[in-house]
Amino acid sequence: MNEIAANLRTIEERIAAAAARVDRDPDGIRLLPVTKTKPPAAVLEARRAGYRRFGENKVQEAMDKWESLAETDIEWAVIGHLQTNKARYVARFATEFQALDSLRVAHELDRRLQQAGRRLEVLIQVNSSGEEQKFGLDPGEVVAFARQLSTFDTLEVRGLMTLAVFSSDQEQVSQCFRRMQEVQRELQQATGEPWPELSMGMSGDFELAIEHGATCVRVGQAIFGNRLDPNHYWPGSMPVQS
Ligand SMILES: *Cc1c(COP(=O)(O)O)cnc(C)c1O
Repeated sequence: MNEIAANLRTIEERIAAAAARVDRDPDGIRLLPVTKTKPPAAVLEARRAGYRRFGENKVQEAMDKWESLAETDIEWAVIGHLQTNKARYVARFATEFQALDSLRVAHELDRRLQQAGRRLEVLIQVNSSGEEQKFGLDPGEVVAFARQLSTFDTLEVRGLMTLAVFSSDQEQVSQCFRRMQEVQRELQQATGEPWPELSMGMSGDFELAIEHGATCVRVGQAIFGNRLDPNHYWPGSMPVQS
């Protein structure tokens, strides 16, 4: 077995163990491998290990990989902040967009998706840590925002996504995850709809996220190896110890 496949099996075991600790069914937790900075060959290794959908945080890089892997059945989830003028690209190739945080982007995605005859699975990004440099809505804005999204027929809005504070203090990280569970409950109560998806947890904190209800964990470095190019870090991130 190659290294990527072996790492995927290890992460799957850790997901199952974290789920068991809180009496959850591991089948309710989706592992989204994050392939940013990694070459198409690495994506193909993970495809051979059974994964079909991959996360990328930059639109241009995602498009490049989509083009070079066009002959495959691979699907793309854009998980990073999107500027309105790039929405048209996402509408063209992505299956999922996890970082919606503005009506302008929603509007532009909907317009372009209609033109293309496509739909898009969407998560609303929430700034659960209150850090200024982080994207996403404040928790208190989410209900009103989510209600406005119901007018966009092409957007299948399934739930919420967040990046927790980047800290070795488990309590601070847990606070972000608990805040997300609260926002999800608020949304459910306000709208009567399930909003089932909670995308939270990365290489350094996915087990904690699962213990707090994550249904999707986005894991890059623990599968594909550390990213050494600092230009590819999102604000505040650091390589994971391995
Ligand atoms: C890079 C990235 C991840 C994965 O981070 P790792 O440390 O590689 O596991 C998750 N979510 C988002 C939004 C990212 O940009």
